[in-house]
Amino acid sequence: KAAVMDGVNVDQDPSTDSIEKTMAKSVFEKLQEDRKTLPMYPYRDDLLQAVNDHQVLVIVGETGSGKTTQIPQYLHEAGYTKRGKIGCTQPRRVAAMSVAARVSQEMGVKLGHEVGYSIRFEDCTSEKTILKYMTDGMLLREFLGEPDLASYSVIMVDEAHERTLSTDILFGLVKDISRFRPDLKLLISSATLDAEKFSDYFDCAPIFKIPGRRFPVEIHYTKAPEADYLDAAVVTALQIHVTQPPGDGDILIFLTGQEEIETAEEIIKHRIKGLGTKIAELIICPIYANLPTELQAKIFEPTPEGARKVVLATNIAETSLTIDGIKYVIDPGFSKMKSYNPRTGMESLLVAPISKASANQRAGRSGRTGPGKCFRLYTAYNYMNDLEDNTVPEIQRTNLANVVLSLKSLGIHDLLNFDFMDPPPAEALLKALELLFALSALNKLGELTKVGRRMAEFPLDPMLSKMIVASDKYKCSDEIISIAAMLSVGNSIFYRPKDKQVHADNARMNFHVGNVGDHIALLKVYSSWRETNFSTQWCYENYIQVRSMKRARDIRDQLEGLLERVEIELTSNDNDYEAIKKAITSGFFPHSAKLQKNGSYRTIKHPQTVNVHPSSGLAQVLPRWVVYHELVLTTKEYMRQVTELKPDWLVEIAPHYYQLKDVEDSSSKKMPHGTGRAS
Ligand code: ADP
Ligand code: MG
Repeated sequence: KAAVMDGVNVDQDPSTDSIEKTMAKSVFEKLQEDRKTLPMYPYRDDLLQAVNDHQVLVIVGETGSGKTTQIPQYLHEAGYTKRGKIGCTQPRRVAAMSVAARVSQEMGVKLGHEVGYSIRFEDCTSEKTILKYMTDGMLLREFLGEPDLASYSVIMVDEAHERTLSTDILFGLVKDISRFRPDLKLLISSATLDAEKFSDYFDCAPIFKIPGRRFPVEIHYTKAPEADYLDAAVVTALQIHVTQPPGDGDILIFLTGQEEIETAEEIIKHRIKGLGTKIAELIICPIYANLPTELQAKIFEPTPEGARKVVLATNIAETSLTIDGIKYVIDPGFSKMKSYNPRTGMESLLVAPISKASANQRAGRSGRTGPGKCFRLYTAYNYMNDLEDNTVPEIQRTNLANVVLSLKSLGIHDLLNFDFMDPPPAEALLKALELLFALSALNKLGELTKVGRRMAEFPLDPMLSKMIVASDKYKCSDEIISIAAMLSVGNSIFYRPKDKQVHADNARMNFHVGNVGDHIALLKVYSSWRETNFSTQWCYENYIQVRSMKRARDIRDQLEGLLERVEIELTSNDNDYEAIKKAITSGFFPHSAKLQKNGSYRTIKHPQTVNVHPSSGLAQVLPRWVVYHELVLTTKEYMRQVTELKPDWLVEIAPHYYQLKDVEDSSSKKMPHGTGRAS
């Protein structure tokens, strides 16, 4: 704050209006000075020259050097935006938003005007926008509407080292258009040194290196493996806080997701209370993908004198976001990863050990502005022997149905010969084609069908899009888009505070009356809220997170717009649950499972043991046949969001996928005693 006030000459100009203006100006000037201190700055002119001389450039520079925030501005200042927008992709939505916010401040413009961002279900850009930050997935979708990206003069594929699925597909697409658009500049930027690979792929594009400034980082390992890394992380953080003088640096803890971060926050708050009042203030700053926008800015606020900040972050703080002032990093060594079994076509989220490359990135976050310390909550032996060198690119461990559908809509048919940097397993490609065929998005020749074309309009996974397209037939598109919107929000609808769990659970079970299943329960939550005219009070009373509901409403509005685009009428069939469940089954029939005697389930097509997630409304009911939204692997493989179905629907809806023998209910033939479970 002091630096800002220095520039204000209150005596000379007493009118508040111009004080504000002078202040704003001095904030602006301060930001301009800050820009000049970034490692990127001395290379500004060289970089511009290199961009001028080459169509494709690979840029390498350590995290925090200013690649994301500065390069697009330099190009703008050099006049590139006269010919078209500059697009900069980010693998993570929070990064796209936060960086755009920062750059708009640095340019002194309103976010959404000259500088904007675009992420799924949220477009914060306008006609004026010349610097557009967006997720890689959004740029992929832009290809559908503008296959040559004619409105862009520069595309910067940022954080290329993350190798997300969308980034990998973008590589192939931008490489292709760069051949017939010689005026399009292409920048591939990365925080790690494996730039040769990018350069090779882009026909030996030159590599521009920004020398980093890095201070030494002391690495500490635990002597024995930690049984509970969350607890160990909290203990380590508090030890640092208590034993080190406040003001010497902030703490960054890497956790795997929102739930874990919220738990850690609670534990820290609780333990701090127990430490008495002599302890310096500890400011807890969570950051994860679904953190509401207004809370995201908090992590960047300077730490007040005498206090310390502890940032609880997911992988997002590994390379996408740079938080100044971090001196201590605590790394439990895990992240949430998607894993995919191409043989069964089953995809699951699980917490898995990180790679050595990630561990080193994480450690590096502590040595940006001075010498740092990194506490690894695993042993040196673990690090040496158990961690892989690099994270496997997402394209090799994920379900490709979504991408295959997008590529098919772009007219790219020969997927086996697509120019992949690292090709996906052929089996995974075939599985994706098979699934799209089963969903009737492709015909026998692998060509896009009318259903497929409609599905591709929705920025959703193919099973969700199919569910929406199918709702036309069952005359329940109104209900189905509410369900799709609620599912897209994730698992943050119900609020369950530690001290009111019983109340919260009771409130939640109200939506499950009649064992309607989780999908219909979500629909009931949405409809009830809509009936109260979107009342916040109602959300409080029912232990529903109002923020999540507002997001669901936004998403739903957009889905409604898309319905119109694909000419599906908005129809409601007022509580005909069977029709709604059939529409759900039309999209999710590959996710069906049958109850076993021991209370677990077997998936029908590729038999595997799964269980109803304890948070499901059907966890105590265990219907004989179910369809589920997704699998999560924790202690067991769990189905999350489960609805009961009748087995003959499977044959009725997907006769090409299920035969009668798959869905024969053994109990109808034998078992005089039955299993005692209601179906
Ligand atoms: P790189 O892309 O090379 O990792 P960035 O351009 O993201 O580097 O960051 C450059 C600087 O800008 C960092 O010091 C970072 O702290 C600062 N910065 C980036 N985003 C924000 C933000 N939203 N608020 C405040 N500072 C930010
Ligand atoms: Mg960056």
